Amino acid sequence: MELINPIAQRWHRKATLDPEGFWARAADQLPWFRKWDRVFEWNFPTFRWFLGAQTNLAYNCLDYHINRGWGGHTALIYINERGERRLFTYAQLRHEVERIAAALRGMGIQKGDRITIYMPLCPEAVMLMLATVRIGAIHSVVFAGFGAGALIDRIQASGSRLVFTADVTFRKGKEVRLKEIVDSALETTGHSVTQVIVLRRTRDDVPMTPGRDIFWSEFLARAADQWGGYISMEANEPAYILATSGTTAKPKLAVHTHGGYSVGIYSMGRWCFNMRPTDVWWSTSDIGWVVGHSYIVYAPLLIGCTTLAYEGALDHPGPETPWQIVEEFGVTGIFTSPTAVRLLMRYGEGPSRKSNLSSLERVFCAGEVLNAPAWEWLQKQVLNDQIPVMDHWWQTETGGPVIGNPYGLTMIPIKPGSAGIPLPGMEIAIMTPEGELCAPGEKGILVIQRPFPSLTPALWGEPERYGWDYWKRIPNKNVYFTGDSAHLDEDGYVWFAGRADEVIKIAAHRIGTIEVESAILKHPAVTEAGVTGRPDPVRGEIISAFVVLKHGYEPSPQLRQEVLETIRRELGPVAVVGDLNFVNMLPKTRSGKIMRRVLKAVVLDKEPGDITTIEDEGSVGEARQAWQQMKAEITGIPAEDVISS
Ligand code: AMP
Repeated sequence: MELINPIAQRWHRKATLDPEGFWARAADQLPWFRKWDRVFEWNFPTFRWFLGAQTNLAYNCLDYHINRGWGGHTALIYINERGERRLFTYAQLRHEVERIAAALRGMGIQKGDRITIYMPLCPEAVMLMLATVRIGAIHSVVFAGFGAGALIDRIQASGSRLVFTADVTFRKGKEVRLKEIVDSALETTGHSVTQVIVLRRTRDDVPMTPGRDIFWSEFLARAADQWGGYISMEANEPAYILATSGTTAKPKLAVHTHGGYSVGIYSMGRWCFNMRPTDVWWSTSDIGWVVGHSYIVYAPLLIGCTTLAYEGALDHPGPETPWQIVEEFGVTGIFTSPTAVRLLMRYGEGPSRKSNLSSLERVFCAGEVLNAPAWEWLQKQVLNDQIPVMDHWWQTETGGPVIGNPYGLTMIPIKPGSAGIPLPGMEIAIMTPEGELCAPGEKGILVIQRPFPSLTPALWGEPERYGWDYWKRIPNKNVYFTGDSAHLDEDGYVWFAGRADEVIKIAAHRIGTIEVESAILKHPAVTEAGVTGRPDPVRGEIISAFVVLKHGYEPSPQLRQEVLETIRRELGPVAVVGDLNFVNMLPKTRSGKIMRRVLKAVVLDKEPGDITTIEDEGSVGEARQAWQQMKAEITGIPAEDVISS
């Protein structure tokens, strides 16, 4: 593959010609207790990196910096939507982590044991993650916005003995009571949990089950000794497991290791994000997601940055909140999601004008495509084109970015709507489901042709599923199947079209959901859009669109017509829209991804299936109501007359 930028091309070539040498040089940037005997071994489908090397991810995040005299440098800034702030230096953070590590050992937790963390993004949760990894145990963080069903599924899949939770988490001015959700999850029989540890933050009335539940202070008192050690781990031993965002009832737990994972996220922290120890880095995600693991906790600390953790809703107490945080703490880099950008876009750029954003050097976005209009708003209206806003692509399984702008090495021109180019060390291709390579411009499935260090080498307890779900989906090609539909352009940029199984097939054309949504967002009244295909006797499928308007706009037949015209102008007559529904919110996962399969169920008049990970169940009812109303309008009228073409 030829990339437009000569520096990026050189890095790419170095990695392709000698991948093992390339990644060994990257690994040399990190401290090791003992170096590897072999760089890489691939026993298809699984693989190992840095075989025989000894390390510890949590040690490298803390002790390594303290030993080189950085103990007084701020490691963690915690803020919540109530205005509370707590700061920890590297030395203070290690002190707390050591106490927790000793308590975990006092509770009988040993190397290889799993614990579940169902806690808000608070300092204790971050410390607990680091303490777990420090003693060689394995954490499984479950997002504290999930309900009891999703929680018990993940507890059972991990086989955890301990569950850590808090009395409450803060969300939009409310307290969400977490402990009760744990109680309800544990009513299910057949799980392995023996103890629940509760961090009490505000409430005196936490229901506790005697013999099973203890408070955080009692947990700390279980420390058998003042143990200040750490466990040396072989590079391929797991540091943590984390459920993928797949929405099947049985969660898949991706494994991330001490060695390869460190090398991958550290390298991409430098090459893609240009992270440096002088950074005040703010990733607006949550520890419940991989972004929170890799770019709130582990990579910023591996690099020696100050990482900022914010608990709460970004627009609470008001839409000025995120911009005020940037000014107050001198934030230099932001990692956020398109959903967050679109949320703030609803309020316009006014709130950002009240703060001084001059400390900010760059903004990154991932999780979904950063549609061109949302990019333009942030880049031009809010940031006055002074600093770059860059999309990049990855998955829970990849641990860190795969496609992006190699900003830390050389900045490539931003093409709004594209996620960028393959980052150094990433060998990717676009293929048909049969394994034929697609030409530039031709849509196919994004595949990864060779493992890189932070790619998950296993699914916890499911070796067969790992092979079948990722490496054997395209017959005889031995490539990793990402499940995303995309095309490459002549300059090597990747353009995502949506999940491969959600592509809409209209007559002979295959249109990605993202392409239609991006077109809809071009209308100035629209802030969000989610689309799906529904069967049509003439064309095979036509588009059903669900549209959220910005503040100050009301749905009307005229506005509907205008949006339809925008789609037609952007995509041409092939994008046949069967119905366009106005709603106040879209069904989204708790991580902000539009649940298009729920929209599909709505327009097919079916039950939505598993919605344990949904942000707001009310969104399903709303979509259903809008669709029923629309159906009543279009019933009896031939499809030809209601479509936009
Ligand atoms: P998760 O494992 O929850 O991080 O979700 C990974 C999925 O999110 C990917 O397979 C894509 O479908 C989607 N995704 C992540 N980043 C992007 C991006 N920049 N552009 C388009 N889709 C993205």
